[in-house]
Amino acid sequence: VQAMSKSAAQPSWQESLFLSIPSNSSARASLEYITSKPHVAGTVGDLHMAEYVRDSFRREGITAELDPQKVLLTYPIRSALQLVDSTGRVVSAAKLAEDVLQEDNTSDTWWRNHTFNAFSPSGDVTAPVVYANFGLPEDFAALKAAGVDVRGTIALMRYGKCFRGLKAMNAQKAGALAAAIYSDPEQDGYAQGSVYPYGPWRPESSVQRGSIQFISLCAGDPTRAYAPHGKSVEELCGYSREELIPQIPVLPISYGDAAIFLDSLGGKEAPASFKGALNITYRTGPTQMQYKVRMQVDNHFQSSPVWNVVGKIPGTLPADLDQPVLLGNHRDAWVYGAADPNSGTAQLLEVAKGLGELLRRGWRPLRSIYLCSWSGEEYGLLGSTAWGEVNGDGPGALLKRALAYLNVDVGVSGAHFRAAGTPSLAQLLSGVLGQVHHPASQKPLSEHWSGRLYSLGSGSDYTVFIDRLGIPSLDMSFTPGEAHYGVYHSVYDSFNWMATEGDPNFTYHVAMSQVWGLTALRLAGSDDRGNLPLPLNLSIQAQAISSYIAEAKQTLNHTAPERVLRFEPLEQATAAFLQAADKSSEEADRLRKLGPPAFDEIVAFNNKIGLLERSFLMESGLPGRKWFRHCLQAPGLYTGYAAKTLPGITEAISAKDWQLAQAQIQACAERIWSAASALSDVG
Ligand code: GLU
Ligand code: ZN
Ligand code: ZN
Repeated sequence: VQAMSKSAAQPSWQESLFLSIPSNSSARASLEYITSKPHVAGTVGDLHMAEYVRDSFRREGITAELDPQKVLLTYPIRSALQLVDSTGRVVSAAKLAEDVLQEDNTSDTWWRNHTFNAFSPSGDVTAPVVYANFGLPEDFAALKAAGVDVRGTIALMRYGKCFRGLKAMNAQKAGALAAAIYSDPEQDGYAQGSVYPYGPWRPESSVQRGSIQFISLCAGDPTRAYAPHGKSVEELCGYSREELIPQIPVLPISYGDAAIFLDSLGGKEAPASFKGALNITYRTGPTQMQYKVRMQVDNHFQSSPVWNVVGKIPGTLPADLDQPVLLGNHRDAWVYGAADPNSGTAQLLEVAKGLGELLRRGWRPLRSIYLCSWSGEEYGLLGSTAWGEVNGDGPGALLKRALAYLNVDVGVSGAHFRAAGTPSLAQLLSGVLGQVHHPASQKPLSEHWSGRLYSLGSGSDYTVFIDRLGIPSLDMSFTPGEAHYGVYHSVYDSFNWMATEGDPNFTYHVAMSQVWGLTALRLAGSDDRGNLPLPLNLSIQAQAISSYIAEAKQTLNHTAPERVLRFEPLEQATAAFLQAADKSSEEADRLRKLGPPAFDEIVAFNNKIGLLERSFLMESGLPGRKWFRHCLQAPGLYTGYAAKTLPGITEAISAKDWQLAQAQIQACAERIWSAASALSDVG
């Protein structure tokens, strides 16, 4: 989606005051505190930091409570990965530990010796290794074509391209008995630049931890231990616990360790696309005849609470007219999480300070603002999904009328502003970016932004809000570019990394706090300005749908050029929606001129456009993954992080299920028609 850069409304006094509050010293101080000890989800550190965030909200005059949610968690006990000879003698062993760095005084911790993938079962497997590149379906297909049998092996894969849980899923499907996932230096190590502590990139011993749940099938706790409205995971997701997490043991390893096992591979030289940046010949495997590899994993599973924190600033509109605005960031981390996610937490606390200052000056938002600090995100969006499910349904549910969900996960890991979101929010964002300076150039951020609002996939806490509940959502970050930053999910994602490499002046922390808070202020409105039309642009939304249709046609063209699918129902619906959207923009202009005296008309208008995104939800959900209900986008079945637009349609096309594809065109067209008619009722 390309946002138009017009309509950069000038800031009001509240906005100017708000923008003046976030400060680099204050963000630095809170980040230093939050990263002062490990706070993995469900541990005492997590509870401690939850209380810290709650108390910080309260200090700003914001009501805040802990929201504990019972979920399934796993913790590492021990693991081993060894090259053994035919007699079982250990020839070489992986370190499975991140080095203590003198320069980084938090690196010496129990967690550095306990690297693991959350939800990996325990197991003890001795088998040859094969190298399956990124673990994508096409990688396994390439191995098969090369005559490499994955059945009965340990699949060694590298990080990158798709969510790690889907690598495990693909390896398991291909018949692997176990899997290891390593960080090739090509993706986030020395091939990108100097490694920590000499630069920001991943050093030799560093390991990317992370969840390996099958995120594209269903988000959240694979057991639904919190039983939302009495529902089981089978009822909600259409899958059992066993189908949502791997049944084979999985271990994350460093490139230092991976080199041992890659080096002992036999078989043919791997295809060019399999080659990484290690100074070895990449082979497909299996492991040379005289060796085998033994992998032992011992993990502990338990059901216990994680602690969300929810702060609330009540709006002045009557409750039945309220349209709450939500800001969310997860707080739980793989060890310290200075970038992921606590740069975002520090920013959330700066936003709270800004709002606190406004409250002290007598400002009140028109619509309620919720500040959410999630836990259990790293295990699979556990805290946010639980809260979303519990508050999303039922009479008077808090989220029934929610206007928008604004997510920041890794607030800062580089200098490039990136945003993904619901297209109707693009214009609002572009206006906000016109009011905030890029720390490097002091020019408005809008001038640094590509104007491209990416589609929302998954991998962070917006998932339940957009994909399950149909609440317009935004996800923002400063990133190093295309690559994941180099210390992602390692013990080196620490305060020292942030203070020396990530954001030494904490100015990107300030900029994101300003963007986040200003977006929220413009959505929430201000009591002293009265009720005005909501700043959602549905024409951009309609144009986005047209571009999704064009892409779906292209997918069809690539997959089966001879096939004809009837896209007309979708095109007609979209044309009607576009027409209604354009009319509603005119209506918004008219009402804006009339202003607050047109209260009743504006209320009716805002009700319609604020709830419009819900029209895109399909009651029965996407084929084969009913938890995902949005017909316009979802995480790709095989990407996890990256989005697929018109997922029901494009995935049926990829599977060459033509009947399903045509039915999905019909189903989504109906949703767009319903949006069009809801919209043309306006006024
Ligand atoms: N953000 C976390 C990750 O990328 C969790 C994502 C998820 O499980 O959806 O590992
Ligand atoms: Zn995160
Ligand atoms: Zn993470």
